[in-house]
Amino acid sequence: MDFAFTSEQEELRSEVRSFLEQELAEGRWQPECDAWIQGFDPGFTKRVAERGWIGLTWPRQYGGRERSFVDRLIVTEEMLRYGAPAACHWFADRQIGGSILRYGTEEQREEYLPLIIRGEMYVGLGMSETEAGSDLASLMTKAEEQDNCFLISGQKTWTSGGSYINYIDLFARTDPDAPKHKGITEFLVPMDLPGISRVPMVDITGTEAWNDIFFDNVRVPKKCVIGERNKGFYHVVEELAYERGGMERLMGNYPLYARLKRFVAETKKDGRPLIEEPRVRTLMAELEVEFETGRLLMYKAAAVMDERRPPTIEAATSKVYGTSFEQRLANTAMELLGPYGGLTASSPLAATGGLAVHSYLASKGYSLQAGSSEVLKNIIATRGLGLPS
Ligand SMILES: Cc1cc2nc3c(=O)[nH]c(=O)nc-3n(C[C@H](O)[C@H](O)[C@H](O)COP(=O)(O)OP(=O)(O)OC[C@H]3O[C@@H](n4cnc5c(N)ncnc54)[C@H](O)[C@@H]3O)c2cc1C
Repeated sequence: MDFAFTSEQEELRSEVRSFLEQELAEGRWQPECDAWIQGFDPGFTKRVAERGWIGLTWPRQYGGRERSFVDRLIVTEEMLRYGAPAACHWFADRQIGGSILRYGTEEQREEYLPLIIRGEMYVGLGMSETEAGSDLASLMTKAEEQDNCFLISGQKTWTSGGSYINYIDLFARTDPDAPKHKGITEFLVPMDLPGISRVPMVDITGTEAWNDIFFDNVRVPKKCVIGERNKGFYHVVEELAYERGGMERLMGNYPLYARLKRFVAETKKDGRPLIEEPRVRTLMAELEVEFETGRLLMYKAAAVMDERRPPTIEAATSKVYGTSFEQRLANTAMELLGPYGGLTASSPLAATGGLAVHSYLASKGYSLQAGSSEVLKNIIATRGLGLPS
């Protein structure tokens, strides 16, 4: 078996790199950690769309390029390597478009996929509620069928990009009498409908990248239902495999990793580069081995997607692995930077431009978002290894 990338893939990677280098040279943005989820920059998304890198795997008839998921991973890997502000299109490109393709009507595909591909549709994930996180099937947001619409009321929490999104992929209970997994429906809801309000949440890092979203008797047209009614839980399980199995679970903090490598190479202690100290060398070597192992796991998940199978087990494995790498990276950075690690970007003494403290704080949430590590380990144990639940 040949594990090398094809020449077409190498070409794609170098095109993406040149584009990102050019963007940086023009000073359009600065590399940031978590920019895939917190970097909302409609102009950047438009420029990415013009190059045809959104909806890369989708059929040509909707404007896609029919490229492989491995090709898509090459694009996202480079976006993450450069810490590019790709949050506007990330969710729609990663999982919502796929859900529309699999479950949507022809009319919905023709309406939404070109919008996503043009970089004009920013979709948030309306799954979690205050009392329904790991046990998503217990969600309470209700959607009551009326003559020509569904009347939706409830609250979603932790909605990524809640202040920016123009659509929300909403899961709501349409059959309160059915067993809890069997009464949930998926909706794609425009955020400008009357009765929807957004309240930013300030997270541990001080950013407002997430929102609580409230639905107060929102009249949602029936054409917003994605797929069969009451089958939403099965959609979400599949979508989560795409959500978990991406390079962002490993490389969300790559700008910190790159700066840390530079820091240990360039900083001198007793006249010698820090990297020559055995402990520092060991820590950095361990990180690099884990990073490369994580990359392989991500490519494996993409290869499974290319076989047109949801990568449920592969994504659970790579997410648990990638998340722990990112947490270790943040901890190692704080250890190596000592007291300077805690300084934010506003301090001239912040050795990694304040990225270390951001990652250290933000990484606490990585093992919760998109499914906690404990829950993912349960999936690996029961569905992957066949152990009793
Ligand atoms: C930064 C961040 C971004 C997020 N973005 C979004 C978003 O965009 N959209 C969205 O819908 N949601 C989002 N979430 C919510 C996320 O999906 C939930 O936080 C997650 O599913 C866990 O749910 P919970 O917070 O209610 O914790 P709980 O489900 O209450 O879990 C609490 C603890 O109990 C453990 N636990 C629970 N059940 C089990 C079990 N069966 N076995 C073993 N241990 C268990 C968990 O591992 C965890 O440690 C985000 C969360 C974070 C932190």
